[in-house]
Amino acid sequence: MENSHGFLKQVLDSITEHIVVIDETGDIRFVNNSWSAFGKSNACVVGDAWQGVNYLEACDKGLAVGDEFARAAGAGIRSVIHKRENRFYFEYPCHSPTEKRWFMMRVTPFSNAGTHYFVISHQNITERKLAEEEIENLAKTDGLTNIPNRRTFDEQLREEWRRCHRLARPICLALVDLDHFKQLNDDYGHQCGDDCLIRVGKLLKGFVNRPADICARYGGEEFVLVWGDTSLQQAKQLSQSLLKQIAGLGIANKNSPVEPYLTASIGLAEMIPGEETNEGALIGLADRMLYLAKNKGRNRVESPASL
Ligand code: GH3
Ligand code: MG
Ligand code: MG
Repeated sequence: MENSHGFLKQVLDSITEHIVVIDETGDIRFVNNSWSAFGKSNACVVGDAWQGVNYLEACDKGLAVGDEFARAAGAGIRSVIHKRENRFYFEYPCHSPTEKRWFMMRVTPFSNAGTHYFVISHQNITERKLAEEEIENLAKTDGLTNIPNRRTFDEQLREEWRRCHRLARPICLALVDLDHFKQLNDDYGHQCGDDCLIRVGKLLKGFVNRPADICARYGGEEFVLVWGDTSLQQAKQLSQSLLKQIAGLGIANKNSPVEPYLTASIGLAEMIPGEETNEGALIGLADRMLYLAKNKGRNRVESPASL
């Protein structure tokens, strides 16, 4: 019984992986139930009407319309058919209009009565991918303020620096440091300080309007904003507006020597990326401007142009 064709077919049909078997020419010779069922409800793969369909041709058609994954699938299958690889697997997205989905495709060869066959299986790995995405997002985000953390900032700044280099456009960086924050913590408690940082983080999000704009928690009570392809003049206005909004939160800091509410100081720098400069120099300049803003009495923006 267990050796019968019907029994083994039922086993294959009860497997949740989508399985298709092709021969050396790419012609489909078998599909299991999961494959048919998936094909019926999804236009992105060879579906129910598989008889006489050539899998490799289907991949090539996908390639012709710019489907990068169809190209990778076709190349991988051919590499196994031509014995360049023993087996092949890759992961690919196959999102439907309503949900995100990923699959893993595997190709393994076998021979029967002198004919070479190739089992192509597609396994839904969406759960794992979503979990990985979540972990990646957590690793990129500051746990308290929910904005990008220092590590993410370093990566994004490097990219933005390169982009502005290519464009030969100025890039501006603002270091934002809350004034007398230690005093605020001492007077109102660390918990209250944390709430302030969360509120300031939310404000910062309002200052990243273009896809390449960056805001991040730089560390402690310091934040950073980067505006690529932006002049110092524009960045100054944005910085002034941020200072106003921070003051506008009306967070009490009664013993601050500046104002009886929470204020901030901003060091602003602008550079046009070139061969002899790097993003470290931009941060260094902004840091010096921040130091100046603190020394001049805080609650202000300082930039090289204002020296
Ligand atoms: P200045 O105007 O010169 O910047 O004074 P300051 O008190 O803001 O600067 P200082 O560097 O002396 O102190 C920074 C304070 O920020 C001390 C530290 O406890 C507080 N701080 C840093 N990170 C956090 C945090 O995650 N939560 C809270 N509540 N406080 C923090
Ligand atoms: Mg500080
Ligand atoms: Mg401070």
